[in-house]
Amino acid sequence: MITIKTPEEIKILREGGRRLAAIMQALRNAAKIGVSTADLDALAEKMAREGGDVPSLLGYRPKGAKRPYPASVCISVNDEVVHGIPNEHPKILANGDIVSFDMCLTHRGLITDTAATVVVGAADAEAEKLVLATEKALFAGIKAVKGGGHIGDIGYAVERVGQAAGFGVVEELCGHGVGYKVHEDPYVPNFGRKGSGEKLKPGMVLAIEPMFTAGSKNVYLDDDGYTYKTADGSRAAHFEHTIVITAKGVEILTEV
Ligand code: MG
Repeated sequence: MITIKTPEEIKILREGGRRLAAIMQALRNAAKIGVSTADLDALAEKMAREGGDVPSLLGYRPKGAKRPYPASVCISVNDEVVHGIPNEHPKILANGDIVSFDMCLTHRGLITDTAATVVVGAADAEAEKLVLATEKALFAGIKAVKGGGHIGDIGYAVERVGQAAGFGVVEELCGHGVGYKVHEDPYVPNFGRKGSGEKLKPGMVLAIEPMFTAGSKNVYLDDDGYTYKTADGSRAAHFEHTIVITAKGVEILTEV
């Protein structure tokens, strides 16, 4: 069931999104050569708790998962697409690593969700192009949102950017409604046909999250039960914002 948030709830989501954006900014800035992913996870948790909020993913158990997620932020490096675990076998970041952060924050009971990808140290040409295209696709997807439009408009816009850049557009994982829970209806695929899917209405809160790879679109789930990796070992990027559909158009809740 797709939920519609009230104006009062949207106010809370706006404040939570602002706080989450600040944490994401701090993570991006801290992703330097020689830094451990476990330390970045600790930074994310500390910042969330200092604000009196909860890192929503810590202890979260998605449908079908064998165990709860053990960290506050997902950190996925190079061929890891999403849901990398930063604190079990921590990685030391190296020059040229492509690092994706994905985090949810519960502020006054309501959840926002954001992701961003950075390149550590010096980026090679492919890494730079991949990261830029994935971010561009996120904003193309957001721009396609309007009340009276359809979910398919978003995926159509995202997929076009990926295809034009020659990257793999991951189809197995997708965006989603968010707010009362980490994952709510509807699914927001990163591919689609204009005018298809559920109708977009003011008050709907969605997480839009393109994932592109430098190779094929195929992914598989690692033995840790969480980390999705590219099937061909190519590198991946991921960007995400939580948005609310308004009477006038769309508002991004997780932007700095
Ligand atoms: Mg997310």
